[in-house]
Amino acid sequence: MSEPRVILLGTGSARFSLDRAAPALAVLGNGAAVIVDCGDGVMRQAMLASLEPASITGLLLTRLDAEHTLGYGGLVLGGWSRGRRELRVCGPPGTIAFHRKLLGDLYAADLAFQQSLGMAGSGLTDARLLDLDEAWQGDLGAIRVQALPVKGPFPSLAYRFDLAERSIVVSGDAAYSPALVALARDADLLVQAATVSASPLGPLDSAERIYSQLGGHPVSPERAGKLAHDAAVRHLVLTHLLPGADPADLKARAATEFAGRITIGDDLREIVA
Ligand SMILES: [Zn+2]
Repeated sequence: MSEPRVILLGTGSARFSLDRAAPALAVLGNGAAVIVDCGDGVMRQAMLASLEPASITGLLLTRLDAEHTLGYGGLVLGGWSRGRRELRVCGPPGTIAFHRKLLGDLYAADLAFQQSLGMAGSGLTDARLLDLDEAWQGDLGAIRVQALPVKGPFPSLAYRFDLAERSIVVSGDAAYSPALVALARDADLLVQAATVSASPLGPLDSAERIYSQLGGHPVSPERAGKLAHDAAVRHLVLTHLLPGADPADLKARAATEFAGRITIGDDLREIVA
């Protein structure tokens, strides 16, 4: 349990498919576990990965769009129903409002009913919530976390975890930037989106153009490779993949920029840092 590692819970995107669940992963180490992003179905994916949801007391969101949050209520309520008694949530500005709208408004009657049956409120109604609009550093249990605002169509964050002399960076949907290079500097593991890749569901050039219009940050495998190279990370993991993405093609394209180890993510794969 203590060896620093990542479990990829969902390596897909907003384009749903049976091959890849929506974006989510777990970071484990120092006897603790946190979840980064809560794509649809994250609760079930965590249990399939043999993670006990009640033991997950830290949730981090990279952005608040549906792609990354549809499973949030399921994980928060599911972990609570299984006995979680504390919870810390961090995310971009709007995270507190999102949590309170969902649990303090939309599901308020349901939660009041469950508490009337004897469910304790701790681990839910006393969740500690944090909106991060600037670089931040803190501890989630035994895991040291740095958060960095990054460019995107929505307020977005990338995270670095330092634990047991290993470092893991999860960049979310963020594309290459000097600040992201600095965050990822010398990391053992960089988990990076490579959403813009060849897919039978749509031509690559249209995806590149859409991303460009959204803020000039296409997340191609080549750019992921350049980020890994410039930050001198040891191991690059590509995730957030479109249906039909060809792993061999992704790897070859990332390798044009990065000579280190490259792994193309699969759901439920565990990767030691
Ligand atoms: Zn995304």
